[in-house]
Amino acid sequence: EAHKETLEFKAEVSQVLDLVIRSLYSNKEIFLRELVSNASDAAEKLRFEALSDDGLYEGDTELRIRVEMDKDAGTLTISDNGIGLGRVEVMETIGSIASSGTRRFIESMSGDQAKDSKLIGQFGVGFYSAYIVADKVTLISRRAGLGAEHGVRWESDGRGSYTLETVEKAMRGTDVILHLKEEEKEFLDSWRLRSIIGKFSDHIALPVEMRKEFYGEEAEAKKDEPPEYEQVNRGTALWMRNKSEITEEEYHDFYKHVSHDFEPPLAYAHNRVEGTNEYTALLYLPKKAPWDLWDRDQKHGVKLYVKRVFIMDEADKLMPHYLRFVKGVVDSDDLPLNVSREILQHNRKIDTIRQANTKRVLGLLETLAADDAEKYGAFWDEFGRVIKEGPAEDFANKERLSSLMRFASTHREDDAQRESLDAYIERMKEGQDKIYYITADSATAARHSPHLEVFRKKGVEVLLLSDRVDEWLVSHLTEYKEKHFQSVTKGDLDLGELADKEEKEAKEKAAAEHGSLLERLKTALGERVEAVRPSTRLVDSPACLVVGEHDMSANLSRVLKAVGQ
Ligand code: ADP
Ligand code: MG
Repeated sequence: EAHKETLEFKAEVSQVLDLVIRSLYSNKEIFLRELVSNASDAAEKLRFEALSDDGLYEGDTELRIRVEMDKDAGTLTISDNGIGLGRVEVMETIGSIASSGTRRFIESMSGDQAKDSKLIGQFGVGFYSAYIVADKVTLISRRAGLGAEHGVRWESDGRGSYTLETVEKAMRGTDVILHLKEEEKEFLDSWRLRSIIGKFSDHIALPVEMRKEFYGEEAEAKKDEPPEYEQVNRGTALWMRNKSEITEEEYHDFYKHVSHDFEPPLAYAHNRVEGTNEYTALLYLPKKAPWDLWDRDQKHGVKLYVKRVFIMDEADKLMPHYLRFVKGVVDSDDLPLNVSREILQHNRKIDTIRQANTKRVLGLLETLAADDAEKYGAFWDEFGRVIKEGPAEDFANKERLSSLMRFASTHREDDAQRESLDAYIERMKEGQDKIYYITADSATAARHSPHLEVFRKKGVEVLLLSDRVDEWLVSHLTEYKEKHFQSVTKGDLDLGELADKEEKEAKEKAAAEHGSLLERLKTALGERVEAVRPSTRLVDSPACLVVGEHDMSANLSRVLKAVGQ
């Protein structure tokens, strides 16, 4: 029975829709990228499921996407013969907020339009982008493997509700029909469409077809024949092509396709590896951090293919966690087609690929840091806090990671994180054998700490660490190029060769002269302190608190308290 019902959108859908339409208006052709990309995902899902059940192909293995227009009806249709959707799937994915990512996005919306539209550029706007150009959208789909009578028709004007009914659909897959707004009829132009498809979809490994056009007599002769189609994109996976034949622009366009980013990438690396573990890797560094970089279950950005067959998104074993923002593709010739996440957990080939990927990304960063300090600084502001997780996770690359780090420092007037450890070491004073740092909850607080007085007096540089992750970093990064890290707030500050003779004498003299005062202070403070000692670390301030060499720093205990530990 053609059981038709009208259902309300989840409240958030209308909210997202509104925002999508308003904020992407100047970039409206991306709707085609998003819909073609969904069609391509659907084809890849079918190919993957068919690995274990080739009945799903229903005898038709030529996967493709078609874009058709109907000038009289004012519609544009994007159809695929991919996996298709069942009725419940349509309700769950199109009628509500499917991904937890979108939900978080909604939660993080500020209400400030300018800010929110920036945010929206950082995640795939997906299906709803159809409403940038359409005032009504119809989706007709049937899941591969179900009978023709199990088609489903979804339709909505995007204003709060949608209808759903069961229909016949002979061909598996999905048709998305856009009823274009009056002012968007410009998209009913074959050349315009071809150029947009070329731009966004040249490098997906699937043909995008449009109707062949005939003119004059030929058109007359073919009037009553079924339409013929021709491929309008290149349709080969970009990563399989020869590096020397790929232009910068093509690399950038492919990046936009895999990342849904509007901006070109910061850098990329494309490598083919031969031998017993053959694979191709195309890895991109984005310019901007994704909005969910700090989510516990933030998605990794590398897709895994095996012999050109898409296997999975977010293949988190292909990159260490601290490089989770890297986007791209790894296509292996030597993994089995039926690999699962479980198999990937303990797979030597995957481990080798991950190690090589890590080296490639570190190499990209080293080049960037050496060639363009300003660009690297911008990268560091976006991703530095994630890179700082590195030394704890990736012992083997500790040294390389350390030299990539940038810190705020007393060497600078401002609080920007721009100073490298190598530059610090170069500036070390004669007799200095440690890298001094202070942790605090802001760079300003660090800069004004009384603990810095003696360092300032002696002109010794101190790194100002104020990111949350810094405490974690210094507990794993204890030395660099044989120089130990030393907190200026811990223990009985040992300035080593830096301390001059007068200071040593002054300290001894103070201990002798003020012994009774120190004792009285200790008695008054009782259990709250371990000891009261004379010190040379202060110049202007009378006293300061210090923790033991092996105790938790005052800042770390503040951080832990803040997170409820
Ligand atoms: P995303 O692609 O990031 O998941 P979208 O909004 O683009 O988000 O799509 C939401 C969901 O709708 C998809 O995950 C998919 O399940 C479903 N979908 C959309 N278009 C198609 C299609 N052409 N074929 C099959 N499923 C589709
Ligand atoms: Mg999508």
